[in-house]
Amino acid sequence: MPLNANTRKRSIRIAITLASGLLPVLLGGVILSMQAERTLQQSTQQTAEEAIRQFELMLDNNAQAARELLPLAGQTCIDVNLALREQATRRPFVRSTNLVWDDTIYCSSLFGDYQEKIASGDYAGGRLLLMKGNPVTPNTAVLVYRLGEGLRGAMSTLDGYHLINALRMIGRHTLLALQVGPHWLTSDGEFHEGPLPVFPVAQTKIDSSRFAFGVQAGFPEGETWRYMSSQYPPLFSLLIFFGVISGLIGHILQKRSSSPTHEMKRALDAAEFVPYFQAVVHGDSKKISGIEVLMRWNHPKEGLVRPDLFIPFAEHSGLIVPMTRSLMQQTATLLAPLSTSFEEPFHIGVNITANHCQDLDLVQDCREFLAAFAPGSIYLVLELTERELIEPTAITHQLFEQLHDLGVKIAIDDFGTGHSSLGYLRQFNVDYLKIDQSFVAMIGIDTLSSHILDSIMELAAKLDLAMVAEGVETLAQSDYLTAHNVNFLQGYLYGRPMPGAEFISALSDH
Ligand code: C2E
Ligand code: CA
Ligand code: CA
Repeated sequence: MPLNANTRKRSIRIAITLASGLLPVLLGGVILSMQAERTLQQSTQQTAEEAIRQFELMLDNNAQAARELLPLAGQTCIDVNLALREQATRRPFVRSTNLVWDDTIYCSSLFGDYQEKIASGDYAGGRLLLMKGNPVTPNTAVLVYRLGEGLRGAMSTLDGYHLINALRMIGRHTLLALQVGPHWLTSDGEFHEGPLPVFPVAQTKIDSSRFAFGVQAGFPEGETWRYMSSQYPPLFSLLIFFGVISGLIGHILQKRSSSPTHEMKRALDAAEFVPYFQAVVHGDSKKISGIEVLMRWNHPKEGLVRPDLFIPFAEHSGLIVPMTRSLMQQTATLLAPLSTSFEEPFHIGVNITANHCQDLDLVQDCREFLAAFAPGSIYLVLELTERELIEPTAITHQLFEQLHDLGVKIAIDDFGTGHSSLGYLRQFNVDYLKIDQSFVAMIGIDTLSSHILDSIMELAAKLDLAMVAEGVETLAQSDYLTAHNVNFLQGYLYGRPMPGAEFISALSDH
């Protein structure tokens, strides 16, 4: 279960890191693609406008020729033939000219006398017809301009070659089509009939305001991406750079936010929290009566870390419970083999925090601890600091009753620094008071503190509680405390906290 939770957390962390890296890249990509589409749209707009301009320029010649010839319609072909040829020769883009009478071509600049019916309804706006070819050049499109007035008519044709050439030159990078009525022409020279095709990217359609034709421009599928990859490589590199930076920042922020708890969880899995033992001696004989188990963090980089630096974090994150459990298990493993050699019950003091007393799990932990030792060979003493009082609830009541039934002893640690009342001491079946080392340190120095110490000792005697004095460093302190019937002494005078295994080998030697 913890492993599953770990891998889940890990994958969430990786997902967040990836998201913080990818988000700016994706966002930047979307903005660049919008920018590319805008540029392509502008480009097709310009292309279409340019094509319209060119075709209008060409058609101006045809319109001019037809206008000049129209008054001649009705005269015999022999009379006007020269005029027809002159227009075709003189005017650029005009390939041929014709005269019409009553919807019938009767004279042509190419053939002279000629007879061909025309369907004026086929002409877009009555003026323009795009044809696939004509009898002279069946494979080259022709654009015919027609001018009519009553029965008279004049026509001039524009060679498709010029149209295709213009389409090709202007639409070098785009798809471009010239549309006249239902017919249209593309830059590859193909003539088509029917509705205009859809150009997938940046399609623009413009109609000429002067002649009945339109131009459509656009790009083939995938042009946006092609444009981006050819124009934006430096921006892409910049985006990826920002993505990497943002991903890194995301990663570091997550690491930082989960840092102390995460680091302690790792340390717990790696069994870096180890027990140190400090001897506790009898007040009178000064013989060893037991130990206090003190936690140390054997950090791979920082070395040995003091408990006051990490215990507050462990309490805050709730990790203190499994950490204490591990400490108890390690202590049992170290000390249980000696249990038959103890002459009298050996006191083993373990520090317990208030939030460890909020459920009954502690009972099971103590039961397992005691089960590791020979029956009656030890006293397990739970040290509860007076600095954080335990709130009396139905659960804590039950807890302390069950602990009492198991034979577990309770000590109030750092006594004198908090505000426990007599009721409080009775409620939890307290067995020992551990006099805080600050009072011990004042023996012979500060008379006020000594008075407090005297009252504490008097109170303990009245309540019939055994006393432990902490932080005993000098003989004077030891003598004073013994003279006042303090039952147990603990301090550097009798031994510093040392690694469990080292303590045991010293104890065995002794
Ligand atoms: P504490 O429970 O009051 O433990 C006694 C502290 O006094 C220990 O500090 C011990 O090394 C130190 N000490 C012992 N004799 C002397 C002396 O003669 N002179 C002086 N100056 N100091 C002495 P340590 O080991 O650094 O622990 C500090 C505190 O961290 C402990 O105070 C306890 O509140 C907490 N702690 C340690 N281990 C655990 C643990 O396993 N669980 C919990 N919840 N708290 C722990
Ligand atoms: Ca303690
Ligand atoms: Ca203490």
